[in-house]
Amino acid sequence: MAQSSQTSSPETAAVPQLVQINSATRALNILGDRWSLMILYLAFQRVRRFDEFQSGIGLARSLLIDRLRRLQAVGILEKVRYQERPIREEYHLSEMGLDLYSLALMIIRWEKRWFYDPANPAHRIKHKCGKDFTPEFRCGHCGELVSPRDVYVEAGPGAGFEPAQLPRAQRRSIVPAGALNNGNPMLDRAFQVLGDRWTSHVIAAAFLGHRRFNDMQNALNVAPNILSDRLSRLVEIGVLRRELYQQRPDRWEYRLTDEGRDLYPLIAELNQWGDRWLAGERGAPLITYHRGCGQPLAPKITCDQCGDEVSAFDVTPSGVAAG
Ligand SMILES: [Zn+2]
Ligand SMILES: [Zn+2]
Repeated sequence: MAQSSQTSSPETAAVPQLVQINSATRALNILGDRWSLMILYLAFQRVRRFDEFQSGIGLARSLLIDRLRRLQAVGILEKVRYQERPIREEYHLSEMGLDLYSLALMIIRWEKRWFYDPANPAHRIKHKCGKDFTPEFRCGHCGELVSPRDVYVEAGPGAGFEPAQLPRAQRRSIVPAGALNNGNPMLDRAFQVLGDRWTSHVIAAAFLGHRRFNDMQNALNVAPNILSDRLSRLVEIGVLRRELYQQRPDRWEYRLTDEGRDLYPLIAELNQWGDRWLAGERGAPLITYHRGCGQPLAPKITCDQCGDEVSAFDVTPSGVAAG
């Protein structure tokens, strides 16, 4: 191909920008959608049938079908036939889906710590020790509590760059926050944060150390108006704060607040899940180490009341009498 001096073709002009691979971003490309999160939340409450999902979420039939299909296509939900004549099917969490339980616990943890509402059933969970509890995020190796300051990240075997995804949210109008409260508060704050892809990508970028507008824009390959909208929203709900770092002209950077930094366990669980299910043959793109013990971080979730590890099978809604 010697004709390299020709004008560039539309294909070369449209080469997508590359972004550094990380598993949390990959996971968010699948999960960072409010409806999908609500479906998963209900699936963990053992909701399985189409009609139950529909009455639980109040979503238009076509949208619900679309989200259920997507979750099935990535392998999080499985369709199971439970009746032949007439044919009836229900949706079950696959192993990959059940493995999101740790993420669900970290969502509840964050909500309980910052937006606790005793009237919200999603905030009231009971451990097998019999007590209402808040899940804790610990290092599985040494057992210490882990905050973002206690970890560092190094490139793993799957490190590299991949084309930036165009999050669907860019092409879709945002659902106003109030429109979703069908008298069922679920996990409203966390879903505001995670349920909009760009919002969650901005948070993940903040944890990777990006603070300035241009910096974030480059890291995410996002349109400026979308980025500024999501930054203001995150400032509004208290996850980020704005700080002046230069005057004339004024320039601001965005830093995680205490509330924002406390989202770390949630991002870390997204990352772990992405490493387990989306990393492929090359392995994890980034490895997180716990400074305290020097080991790769393999998180363990514990009960703040009895100190024991928490698994999916020993949590019940608090309003329900145990066994
Ligand atoms: Zn440790
Ligand atoms: Zn306990």
